[in-house]
Amino acid sequence: MERVIGIDLGTTNSCVAVVEGDTPSVIPNRGGYKTTPSMVAVTEADKRLVGHIAKRQAITNAENTVYAAKRLIGRQWNSPPVEAARDTAPYRVIEGPHSDTRIDLRGKLYSLPEISAMILQEMKIIAEDYLGEPVAKAVVTVPAYFNDNQRQATRDSGTIAGVEIIRIINEPTAAALAYGFGKKIDRTVAVYDLGGGTFDISVLEISSDEVFKVISTAGDTFLGGEDFDTRIMDWLVQGFLDEHGVDLRQDRMALQRLKDAAEKAKIELSTQLEAEINLPFIISVGQNEALHLQRMLRRETMEELCFDLVQRTMEICRATIQEAGLEVSDVEDVILVGGMTRVPLVQRSVAEYFGREPCKGVHPDEVVALGAAIQATALIDDRSEMLLLDVTPHTLGIMIAGGLFEELIPQNSTVPTSRSKIFTTVRDNQTAVKILVFQGENERAEKNELLGEFVLTGLRNAPKEQVEVEVSFDINADGIVSVSAKDLETGLKQSITVTASSGLTEEEILNMANDNQEYMLDRRASEEFDAMRQEAERIMREIDRSFHKAEQTVGNSEFGREALAKARDLLDNAQQSIDQRDAAKLNEHLEALKRTQKIFKGVLARA
Ligand code: AMP
Repeated sequence: MERVIGIDLGTTNSCVAVVEGDTPSVIPNRGGYKTTPSMVAVTEADKRLVGHIAKRQAITNAENTVYAAKRLIGRQWNSPPVEAARDTAPYRVIEGPHSDTRIDLRGKLYSLPEISAMILQEMKIIAEDYLGEPVAKAVVTVPAYFNDNQRQATRDSGTIAGVEIIRIINEPTAAALAYGFGKKIDRTVAVYDLGGGTFDISVLEISSDEVFKVISTAGDTFLGGEDFDTRIMDWLVQGFLDEHGVDLRQDRMALQRLKDAAEKAKIELSTQLEAEINLPFIISVGQNEALHLQRMLRRETMEELCFDLVQRTMEICRATIQEAGLEVSDVEDVILVGGMTRVPLVQRSVAEYFGREPCKGVHPDEVVALGAAIQATALIDDRSEMLLLDVTPHTLGIMIAGGLFEELIPQNSTVPTSRSKIFTTVRDNQTAVKILVFQGENERAEKNELLGEFVLTGLRNAPKEQVEVEVSFDINADGIVSVSAKDLETGLKQSITVTASSGLTEEEILNMANDNQEYMLDRRASEEFDAMRQEAERIMREIDRSFHKAEQTVGNSEFGREALAKARDLLDNAQQSIDQRDAAKLNEHLEALKRTQKIFKGVLARA
């Protein structure tokens, strides 16, 4: 059977899993880690770095290292998260050609789907290394609360990375899949997911015949671990300002170090009561003088700093349970997802609210990727009976007279679904209607997210309210929306799939995919060259080491001296092909080196 993988494309970390036999498992990366930082960097030598190696150099190359790109993907230039990133991110956030957002890495502008594509690609490579075969298809997860633009942008990342995303599923739903997989249980569960950038809560019914039905879902895409880090950073910055009168925010490098230290302290406080934050030479003052930052953060203090953030998640839980028409006591198990659910304050608050200890059997960092892999396998396996019934997290509708928002598909409707409504013209002889499609919960249309627009033209002349137009919405299993409008009398119909909203045009996506493919070819060639180089250098060292002994053994014959001179030339030539990065020549020399190595071994064995 064809291989498909599940990818949890996280704000902070990403994870890839596969089902082998009947067992889903997470695939470790080359370093042996089961998660890979969702970080991308470009070095001075224009080399692309992804994952741990990008994270390791983040401090010294802060301006060219992107983290938390998921917060910006599918967002308009003037949206609050982009505005926040413009002010605080150490990397340069630039306006793109379609009011979208780009990131400047060493003078080249990258769209957010391109950044995510680099991470997706890395996850694909991790899977390919492990499976020893190419992987072309994946199921990718997104926060349940992602709107259509964000989903579409994620889908575009797949196209750019050369990975066919066969389905996008919601992270909490994936977690529930991994939790319920193979268990044959009937149970109502809540998935509490607090990651690096987002919070999601979903309530699901799992039934023993492998139906996973989401009843209600909600969340906040501006709430996650990074906010906790920011609170700690603010506390550090303020303390430093009070003590030294110096504002660390002025220094990008200092900010990056503070951010790292804040996160590290937060993580330490999950298992310890105190964490020491020690940042020597945090900022230079005057010519040869630098100030140091050293502070102790107590768990209690961190809990005070972040208390309201946790409370916000609990309020969303309350609303979601209510929306599901349930009592808290109806929830039979709580699944924790996301690195932030290791924070004791979070665990305590969840246990308190739900009146039960959260389920311990699932690994919060891995469960989402496992669920994605389970879904991926189910999608290509005809024998699978598994059925996933998800919901749309936002209300969908159109703008009507007076700028009001008219709902067509309410929040938390099971998808796929379609609905239609009949509208009438508002002016005499109105021959065209403009349909503006929005997603959101505000009664003023423009306060919601604009997904797309189109104009139905060629309506017949008639007094106002006499022409009836049927507007139909359709949401597919990926949560992607298409809309059509039909003149009921003439049957004239126009429709759009709301797709161009990731901020990129088809052509741009294609170009980015081509660029990426070229990059990957170069990278593979470069990896092959490096492997050859390593082998050649190893043999060259060995020959070099035994040269003296070989000279003593065969140096007294002309034949021997000639052979030794040839070997010396070969070493020089091989070194030259390495310096010139000439793969074809090095390949030839490598073969010759192997032969020479054998001869040397033979000679020395006789000596
Ligand atoms: P995720 O997006 O699920 O990978 O979650 C990442 C977030 O969890 C980041 O904000 C991390 O700092 C945070 N995190 C990871 N491990 C821990 C831990 N042991 N204690 C507290 N926070 C953690």
